[in-house]
Amino acid sequence: MNYPRLEINCTKIIHNTQYLMAELHLKAISVTPVTKASSGHPLLAQLFIHAGATMLADSRVENMQRMRCSGISIPLMLIRTPMLSQIAGVISDCSISLNTEIEVIQALSDEAQRTNSDHSVIIMVELGDLREGVMAKDLIDFIGRIVLLPNIIIKGIGANLACRYGIAPDEQKMAVLSALADEIECTFDIHLDIISGGNSASLQWALAHTGQTRINHLRIGEAIFFGYESLYQETMAGLQTDAMILTAEVIESNLKPSLPWGKRGNNAFGEQQPIEDRGPVTQAILALGRQDVDVSGLTPPQGITIVSSTSDHLIVETLGEKLRVGQKISFSLNYSGFLSAMSSQHVYKLFSYPHC
Ligand SMILES: *Cc1c(COP(=O)(O)O)cnc(C)c1O
Repeated sequence: MNYPRLEINCTKIIHNTQYLMAELHLKAISVTPVTKASSGHPLLAQLFIHAGATMLADSRVENMQRMRCSGISIPLMLIRTPMLSQIAGVISDCSISLNTEIEVIQALSDEAQRTNSDHSVIIMVELGDLREGVMAKDLIDFIGRIVLLPNIIIKGIGANLACRYGIAPDEQKMAVLSALADEIECTFDIHLDIISGGNSASLQWALAHTGQTRINHLRIGEAIFFGYESLYQETMAGLQTDAMILTAEVIESNLKPSLPWGKRGNNAFGEQQPIEDRGPVTQAILALGRQDVDVSGLTPPQGITIVSSTSDHLIVETLGEKLRVGQKISFSLNYSGFLSAMSSQHVYKLFSYPHC
């Protein structure tokens, strides 16, 4: 076995995907799994397809290309507004993209015409979290210009909330999006197939909602991987929360003073943390560092505390027994921990299929 090692429990990922798809199906909402946290890893993409996904979403064209190269052929949805410099890749690898700029959609239209293909767009509406989105007051004008563009299909509208300021996708926001969908359809006499109500933060609303809504689609990453919705980090009933673990190896273990000695400047990262003398401590070093993972995204097992990290070393303290050199320690990860470990070339990835 190689370390540090990120183990992905495929049985749990499949369970979470299928559970959410089934629950939301009852609400007439379809789910597109989002692969961006896994850098578009082809094995995870295959898992989602195995679980029943008919489309996958990612924020990066490079990840799309990675999936295409590995033979993934189902439709792909680009969930970040395309860069003008990547239009050709968007047209060749993505069936749908989320958009907020006329200039970009114009370029998509030009490239689609050039390659004799069609491209679908979902127009994102700003609902108050102030990340991407056309302002609602400008939406009708905006759509009015898009309907004229050749080889562009207006597939629907959508919104993204919670990511920047934690603004909640609640009943009121979803009602605004629904009403905008109705207004667009009336004004232009078109039908919008997809009304995309957001990410994992929209799950609480979607699962609790009863009654009328036009929202029929969500883009879900975090909840599938971690079993919690992102708004309040509350775990969700029916979902597995420990599908990923990161394991690293102890390379030094010693009883050391807690107070360093000598003249003091900044550390390797230009930081100077306050230190207090806590007497001697049982300290261990793991072969894991900031080059492997966002250390703040790790949770150690009980009895072990993460005290510092450098590029290649994670320093922990234990209360009881000294750790042994060669011992393996497993950490749970949050979104940022998973994202960083998954994108580090120094972390080995192991996909396991335990029976649970
Ligand atoms: C990342 C992202 C998602 C998925 O968010 P999760 O919190 O992982 O469910 C959905 N939509 C957009 C536009 C995103 O950028």
